[in-house]
Amino acid sequence: MKTNTICVQGGYTPGNGEPRQIPIIQSTNFKYNTSEDMGKLFDLEASGYFYTRLQNPTNDYVAAKIAQLEGGTAAMLTSSGQAANFFALFNICECGDHIVSSSSIYGGTFNLIAVTMKRMGIDVTFVAPTATEEELHAAFRPNTKAMFGETIANPALTVLDIELFAKVAHEHGVPLIVDNTFATPVGCRPIEWGADIVTHSTTKYMDGHGAGVGGAIVDSGNFDWMAHADKYPGLTTPDESYHGVTYAERFGNAGAFITKCTTQLMRDLGSIQSPQNAFLLNLGLESLHVRMKRHCENGQAVAEFLHDHPKVAYVNYCGLPDDPYHALAEKYLPNGSCGVVSFGLAGGREAASIFMKNLKLAAIETHVADARTCCLNPASSTHRQMTDEQLKEAGVPAELVRISIGLEDIEDLIADLSQALENC
Ligand SMILES: *Cc1c(COP(=O)(O)O)cnc(C)c1O
Repeated sequence: MKTNTICVQGGYTPGNGEPRQIPIIQSTNFKYNTSEDMGKLFDLEASGYFYTRLQNPTNDYVAAKIAQLEGGTAAMLTSSGQAANFFALFNICECGDHIVSSSSIYGGTFNLIAVTMKRMGIDVTFVAPTATEEELHAAFRPNTKAMFGETIANPALTVLDIELFAKVAHEHGVPLIVDNTFATPVGCRPIEWGADIVTHSTTKYMDGHGAGVGGAIVDSGNFDWMAHADKYPGLTTPDESYHGVTYAERFGNAGAFITKCTTQLMRDLGSIQSPQNAFLLNLGLESLHVRMKRHCENGQAVAEFLHDHPKVAYVNYCGLPDDPYHALAEKYLPNGSCGVVSFGLAGGREAASIFMKNLKLAAIETHVADARTCCLNPASSTHRQMTDEQLKEAGVPAELVRISIGLEDIEDLIADLSQALENC
């Protein structure tokens, strides 16, 4: 099936007389006739459900669709994008280990890795998204267990050289984890470029309507855990907390990662997506291919309009030919990137503040990537405690505005931006 068809019909095939739409299994638990029947599930000898903290059929239909979209072998849903990235990393890293990560990543993920995971004894080296092959190699240590980056970074809008990052990671016997939230599998399938694990904040384009917070993890099934058994004892030696199962042996490369993540991390940390939210997520997925096309078209048109506007000093959007990431975008995102554009106002902080006040259609929100256009000037909102100097250092200069272009008519959007720019 092609991507467009998977968006609509992937993951769930109803039998004769069964509901056409994915059923919401709003039940915490599942009934069995004998203890032996249930025992087989606990021994991982039979597949089935026993408690929704670990697994739920509604979630699994939707996870299967996302696995198909990304070209992976297995997937799971989490309660948020934060949980997805934490679980993906913590599934293979423990105290004493080390991560190499692109520095150009979502602020929440940066904090997760640089502060919270550090407190757990997991160290990190950040590398520039533009790092050369030599610089990437130099960041690795004998205890490095994962490499991490974002296809299109939120909010910097840099594009990851997935093939290069994957090559270097694999030369060190380490998997590459790619957060594909902004591109979505409609725009890019990182596994085809060598990524081993793909994560999502489904809160963004996949949901697409600002209705539910959620995340997803997809395994490519390509990483050979047994070939690097000494690095990944959690997957390649018996799990005493789960009847001595050795995940890589029992479930192979195709299933080990997600099975361990479910039976161990979900069991102990409990961050599953609610079945109700999984249902809403699936409604979003059914139109993802149609919506992404429009988000990209609108984003490109707005970027071009801003690029040529005298009140605008610069625009960051990889779809513009003079953007530093344009060549990478042509390689990895040939059908368009996303609807998020950032730009700087020539009049600085004050102009940005006037612009924001003047907007009528675009709402002021910290959110991005849904159907309604929204806009943020970090200097006057999320980062307002910082000085102009500190803002510059953090990569969010005072004049910077981030706009997430929705699905409205492009003429109305440009008219709104145009009037808002008039007296800036
Ligand atoms: C929003 C976002 C996250 C965090 O997701 P939540 O669903 O808000 O927890 C992670 N990565 C990227 C790229 C994001 O945009």
